[in-house]
Amino acid sequence: MKTYESLLDEVTAFSGRSRTILDPATGEIVGDAPVHDLEYLEQAVAGAQAAQPAWAALGHDARSVALLKAAGAVERSAEELARLLSREQGKPLNGPNARFEVGACAAWLRAAATIRLEPEMVVDDGETRAELHYKPIGVVAAIGPWNWPMMIAVWQIAPALRMGNAVVVKPSGNTPLSVLALVKVLNEELPDGILSVVSCGREVGARLTNHPAIGKIMFTGSTAAGRAIIKSSADTVKRLTLELGGNDAGIVLPDADPKAIAEDLFWGAFINTGQTCAALKRLYVHEDIYDAVCEELTAVARAMPMGNGLDENNVLGPLQNKAQYDVVANLVQAAKDSGARVLLGGNPDTSQPGYFYPTTLVADIDNDNPLVAEEQFGPALPIVRYSTIDEAVEKANGLDVGLGASVWSSDLAAAREVASRIQAGTVWINKHGAVDPRIPFGGAKQSGYGLEFGVEGLKALGVPQVING
Ligand code: NAD
Repeated sequence: MKTYESLLDEVTAFSGRSRTILDPATGEIVGDAPVHDLEYLEQAVAGAQAAQPAWAALGHDARSVALLKAAGAVERSAEELARLLSREQGKPLNGPNARFEVGACAAWLRAAATIRLEPEMVVDDGETRAELHYKPIGVVAAIGPWNWPMMIAVWQIAPALRMGNAVVVKPSGNTPLSVLALVKVLNEELPDGILSVVSCGREVGARLTNHPAIGKIMFTGSTAAGRAIIKSSADTVKRLTLELGGNDAGIVLPDADPKAIAEDLFWGAFINTGQTCAALKRLYVHEDIYDAVCEELTAVARAMPMGNGLDENNVLGPLQNKAQYDVVANLVQAAKDSGARVLLGGNPDTSQPGYFYPTTLVADIDNDNPLVAEEQFGPALPIVRYSTIDEAVEKANGLDVGLGASVWSSDLAAAREVASRIQAGTVWINKHGAVDPRIPFGGAKQSGYGLEFGVEGLKALGVPQVING
């Protein structure tokens, strides 16, 4: 049985170079993360290559059993993992945060283990018989961000392993300890070599994107990094799944009930203190109910405590890093300078330690204001007034990203009709960001390509092979 201290000791034990990770809520030391070099990366890739054929040969059933056991291992160490995640990432233990994220890791492992993927009979007409199979790719690189470091790593790792691949994970330099700990726990139940982690800087990590032994990259992060990875992986023609940045719109139709939707709107926007790829980042509200929605949302937001994640009262935490804090602070300042109306927040208390930016709601803001047009990735939501549905749809579709979106209404048919007009990989109705391991998830436009989750997510980690005859 691991304790928090023993888990931390295991992931920080390294004789080479290390980097001190600070708690974003307090500035205190969490631990020293290894900084792996190129040689370490090469060894991890070689180890993965060596271990992969035996793992592939086990077949789906045995791999599924191993993944189910790995889910059990996560649950055995759930509280220790959640505590480390809270200290390194900043997200509170409570609310839809650290414990929730660790729970999601187990859930996604179980889903990847149990979803069925049968060979598909494409043609069988007496003359021609063609069957579609999915074979292992080989070694997959999993490159992830710092916002949901454990959960997104599992989104990449679990289907890759299930499909018979070995995986080399490169976590964000902001949250390496969380991913090192997760992999340590998963490896209690997995054969040696098929899952390893390289805790390195971007320059060393970039080697994974042009390494000849890597067959596929699962990447989640910014659109800019996604573009760099496309270029870098071109010479070796790697398969790519790219889950990139978003700036999700929510459209509230005039028949919605402001009081009934306020809490779900709040969590759609502020889950993980707004540091979520598919969070609601621009809210469009019909003029008939604009004031009522602003009022109800403000009341909900005001009541949500923000603070140190280890305090069970808190459901919102700090920004994970100073760079992100500055992005949010600058965007809100620009909105204030433009004359937009701050309903709540907008005035950070810089005398306190930690990257806390207060929960902020900004009304009467123009659609082309940077707080609307750019991804804030933090706890500041702009609320834009609209008059006609056509105008709202045009504004929602006006950016070059399209990860998620949502429509809010008492009339499901009307909401679905509006949803069908929005350019986004997922459009939720009366909720936002509700990802589900059974349901494919991916971006439209520059939010990336390829699908994760469900049977489509498994197919994305295999090489299609047709047996014709
Ligand atoms: P980032 O792109 O800066 O970094 C993501 C990861 O890529 C990190 O591990 C980083 O070290 C690595 N990286 C960066 N450049 C690289 C390169 N050229 N080669 C190889 N690796 C490279 O993103 P971030 O700041 O960690 O995360 C925030 C962004 O991620 C936001 O834009 C957010 O919307 C997006 N995101 C998207 C999803 C999704 O599912 N679509 C989920 C979470 C976050």
